[in-house]
Amino acid sequence: MPPGAHILAGFSLGFHHRQQLTRLLDNAAGRCSLLNLDPQRLKAEGVSTLALDFDGVLSPHGSPAPLPEAREWLERCVTVFGNRNVFILSNKPTEERRHWFEQHFPAMRFIGNVRKKPFPDGLNRIGELAGVPPSSILMVDDRLLTGCLAAILAGARAAYIHPPYVSFRQRPFSELFFMLLRSMERIFVRLARLFPDSTT
Ligand SMILES: [Mg+2]
Repeated sequence: MPPGAHILAGFSLGFHHRQQLTRLLDNAAGRCSLLNLDPQRLKAEGVSTLALDFDGVLSPHGSPAPLPEAREWLERCVTVFGNRNVFILSNKPTEERRHWFEQHFPAMRFIGNVRKKPFPDGLNRIGELAGVPPSSILMVDDRLLTGCLAAILAGARAAYIHPPYVSFRQRPFSELFFMLLRSMERIFVRLARLFPDSTT
């Protein structure tokens, strides 16, 4: 697959699914952080399995390990869902991140060798591995046109993390780049929503 194919797919498929993306954006309302997601409540709402993005969700961009508060949250998730029902689905599954999980959450699975989000392949794989329907999987992601869109395409649920974790002190240029990218996605979704829905 050519590099960047997932980005092009993000815009074209994102346009197609603009209504669902708008709903996610409106629901987050700029106040959905990782720590707002209560594992007990999610389970009560029918979530059985978590698919977690890394950058912006568990840590600022490019960090090798989750933040301490995200680690505590992961521990709560393990208590509620079990190690085997929490997956890491990042478009950057680096070796040092894998290594961190091997050290701290060895039973938690890291999804690799799949087409990048927004393609639903990673979520489909998680459904197979966990033996659950996509409708009970929650994708937690800070990107509308990658993770959230992948969830829509797979028939899974999505939590749009907004605001994400950022650290301008550690990586000023990449954080600025991703801040602009996330803003651009929100503008794209808002503008796309102005187009009439051909299905109604
Ligand atoms: Mg991310």
